[in-house]
Amino acid sequence: MLGLLAGCTSNPAPLIPEQSLFQVSTIDALLQGDYDGYTTLKELSAKGNFGIGTVDALDGELVVENGQFYQVKSDGKVYRPSADTKTPFASIVRFAPEDSVNLQNLNFDQFKLLVDSLMKSKNYFFAIRLEGNFELVHTRSVPGQQKPYPPLVVVTQNQPEFNLTETHGKLTGFYCPEFVKGINITGYHLHYLSDDKTSGGHLLNFRLKSGTLKLDKIQNFEMKLPESGSFQKTEYKTDRTEELKKVEG
Ligand SMILES: [Zn+2]
Repeated sequence: MLGLLAGCTSNPAPLIPEQSLFQVSTIDALLQGDYDGYTTLKELSAKGNFGIGTVDALDGELVVENGQFYQVKSDGKVYRPSADTKTPFASIVRFAPEDSVNLQNLNFDQFKLLVDSLMKSKNYFFAIRLEGNFELVHTRSVPGQQKPYPPLVVVTQNQPEFNLTETHGKLTGFYCPEFVKGINITGYHLHYLSDDKTSGGHLLNFRLKSGTLKLDKIQNFEMKLPESGSFQKTEYKTDRTEELKKVEG
């Protein structure tokens, strides 16, 4: 028996931790105004080093780059939120890209078509990074809200938008498959952060001069649902597809 155990420990089977996309709350909860944060950035950082989201009371756009958290507020400036800051909606993964492609001269629509063609199937999650020199990055951020929280489609009617020109930086985000409708944003959802960490936001459009795309296919999905009373009581029957289109711009 002892010999068998010794044999097992001397030749351990390699345990490769499976990579998982970890998500806080659902997009439909955010759309209907559930902006109270309930997961700290410290907890989130245990789940990955690459991601996007927002923070408590919808106070700006969150970017997680190389394990560091950045908050692009509605004044257009980039802040470093503390580890005990809470998020009401975020997605994070341990980024391990399998594919890398050099790109030149394309806009967001052309980029989406290209990534569509690179994905082996559109029924997986993909973590996406595009780093490069941009002629233009058009972003928005959302202003922090006070209770009673208005729905997201009302908040984004007056969203500050930013036209960042001749900027070098990274787009970070995800492609989510159609079947997660109501849970996350289906299709492409990216946030930008300039390399000098002075500008960024939720991506609306871009024109890339040259850059590198990195893609990471993800097969596992993990969620943490809110504890709030409004989440517990809401009946999620409404189809918010059209609201989401307006919010995404
Ligand atoms: Zn966003």
